Amino acid sequence: MDNKDILIYVEQEGGRVHPISYELLGKGRELADKTASNVSCALLGSGVSGAAQELIEYGADTVYVFDDDSLAIFDSLRYKQNLVGLLREIQPSVVMFGATLTGKALAPRVATALEAGLTSNCTALEVQEDGSLLQVRPAFTGNFLAHVKTRSKPIMVTVRYRALESAPKDESRKGEIIQKDSEKVDSGVKVLGKGAMKEASIAGADVVVCGGRGLKKAEDLALVKQLADALGGVVGATRPLVDDGWISKDHQVGFSGTIVKPKLYVGVGVSGSPQHLAGIRDSGTIVAINSDPSVALFRIADYAVVGDIYEVVPKMIELLNK
Ligand SMILES: Cc1cc2nc3c(=O)[nH]c(=O)nc-3n(C[C@H](O)[C@H](O)[C@H](O)COP(=O)(O)OP(=O)(O)OC[C@H]3O[C@@H](n4cnc5c(N)ncnc54)[C@H](O)[C@@H]3O)c2cc1C
Repeated sequence: MDNKDILIYVEQEGGRVHPISYELLGKGRELADKTASNVSCALLGSGVSGAAQELIEYGADTVYVFDDDSLAIFDSLRYKQNLVGLLREIQPSVVMFGATLTGKALAPRVATALEAGLTSNCTALEVQEDGSLLQVRPAFTGNFLAHVKTRSKPIMVTVRYRALESAPKDESRKGEIIQKDSEKVDSGVKVLGKGAMKEASIAGADVVVCGGRGLKKAEDLALVKQLADALGGVVGATRPLVDDGWISKDHQVGFSGTIVKPKLYVGVGVSGSPQHLAGIRDSGTIVAINSDPSVALFRIADYAVVGDIYEVVPKMIELLNK
């Protein structure tokens, strides 16, 4: 790796920094200390300047702030244009994004504009003895780990939420905050309205109760919701439920949905396909409820409940609510 900046794209909503950005900062700081380089952050939005100091306390040396009304709502084209301008100016050797919906929308656009490679969904980053950066990402629905080295510059990665540890906050850290003028870009996007997310994201939840095709009809997801409420968790679903329109895609757990890492995962009528298991492997405790004792989910479950979900789940809810 060159002795140059590592740049972290800071994800925020309404000035609140997404925890993935602190995780990226933790890794960025570790890599920068090993290679005697600096960590910079790019913070884009409206009314976001107040968040810059805390990024320094979590490990940034420099924070570039684009604080402008035109950036109030995430617009991948506007954000890309400003970010690409900054990257051309400061020429970092590594650029890190979270593998969140925002990061997944932004990183490929930036990589294309810079004609750089992009390693998506990394779970680990390591500096090699020769100074190169090894990027580790699951492949083939998580059955293999691919080790990637990139020749193009800058090295660009997206990293999974909760794959890394954030660095501890150090209020005595000093750094530089640089205000940048934002480029006004007409992306053609018109915002007609804004609504709050109905439910906490499954990616960051400590408890995920996941409904599968063991449910007979869409309305029975209410049972999964009641169990999730009783456990203080959120509702997830397997892909067939999403494909059938029973629940929105942001609830889909798995390889082509969201990778979750809760302290507790409960599978309700879920068989445990490889694509689903790829999304729950790192869960703390796995509980599975299924009438078929031979299902794959039981093989990785800490607690296997063999029974009919329509009998077991109401009893669990009753006991939990007591
Ligand atoms: C490219 C690709 C990507 C994919 N990505 C994903 C993904 O991200 N996430 C995902 O989930 N899937 C994904 N899939 C789909 C995946 O292959 C499986 O089809 C899916 O995970 C199965 O969902 P399920 O466990 O709900 O259904 P099933 O496999 O049909 O399992 C239903 C289970 O319910 C049990 N059951 C039935 N009735 C009851 C009852 N009354 N009480 C108790 N148990 C009962 C059955 O024994 C069975 O084990 C993907 C597939 C492909 C090809």
